[in-house]
Amino acid sequence: MKRKLIIVGSGPAGLTAAIYAARADLNPLVIAGVTWGGQLMNTTEVENFPGFIEGIKGPDLMSNMLEQAKRFGAEIIYENATQVIDKGDSKVVKTYENEYESDAVILATGATPRLLNVPGETKFYGRGVSTCATCDAAFYKEKTVAVIGGGDSAMEDATFLTRFATKVYLVHRRDEFRASPIMIHRALNNPKIEVLYNSQVESIEGELKVSTLNLLNNKTNEKTSLKVDGIFLAIGHIPVTDFLGNTIELTEEGYIKSSDGVHTSMQGVFVAGDVEDHKYRQAITAAGAGCRAALDAQKWLETLEDKE
Ligand code: NAP
Repeated sequence: MKRKLIIVGSGPAGLTAAIYAARADLNPLVIAGVTWGGQLMNTTEVENFPGFIEGIKGPDLMSNMLEQAKRFGAEIIYENATQVIDKGDSKVVKTYENEYESDAVILATGATPRLLNVPGETKFYGRGVSTCATCDAAFYKEKTVAVIGGGDSAMEDATFLTRFATKVYLVHRRDEFRASPIMIHRALNNPKIEVLYNSQVESIEGELKVSTLNLLNNKTNEKTSLKVDGIFLAIGHIPVTDFLGNTIELTEEGYIKSSDGVHTSMQGVFVAGDVEDHKYRQAITAAGAGCRAALDAQKWLETLEDKE
């Protein structure tokens, strides 16, 4: 059975696209992934998604979006996409189990924050270890935190965290930052930020929550332990694009390339959310992108109907 629209991904971008497309009577098929819901499934409280005065738990927000999409007729399957094939008039999305065919596709597979892979990191994820300062900084009022990384995100996160925390360690594995000069300048001139160069994270410890960050100085081999309440990882993201092979144009960093944030190099294939946007990476911006992709996909499908 050929469908009008397939949406690959089930984070805020994919599910918002599903809500809009379903309400437009496109009966979208959402290939949600075996573990559905995206990055918000790993967060606790979401306080910055408009409309929730008291905040909402990340998994609850995603369940609401899923139910809302289903309510309007979106079909959800819990499989992982493995390939997207351009057959001219139609696109085929393969999963490990099946093949699905459609006129249009929205890719919204997101990105996963890069992790350190050190002991304690997974254990304390969501209990002191965070990959989103914008989401979690407000929980660290008058606390001590560490930010790991040396790029723009690390500078931005460290600077932002000083609004809440009393002390922010900025831990970087080299003695030179890759961030842009203005961001470095801002961070280094903030009296609440202390930079620890040549410092590698060895492990994270705590009881119920994070309490200690163990570091190794890779120049002196000196080991130190910092007492911290929170650890923010800002060591980059990995866009989920492996399954595309070289069928769709990607940026050097592996994100889907798009001149306008919606259209990809394959006609009839649209993109939304963190798999394209490496800058804002917020649930609300991803949801907005999902809406845009669904509206543009709808227009594209109308042009196909006009030709028939
Ligand atoms: P990034 O530029 O890739 O920087 C990642 C940082 O994490 C690097 O300093 C890297 O160290 C470090 N790192 C990577 N793996 C590590 C590991 N296993 N252990 C310890 N450190 C590790 O990522 P980003 O900062 O998220 O920025 C991504 C893109 O978004 C960039 O283009 C950036 O300009 C943009 N951005 C822009 C803004 C803004 O304009 N306001 C804000 C945020 C991000 P090395 O340097 O040693 O490789």
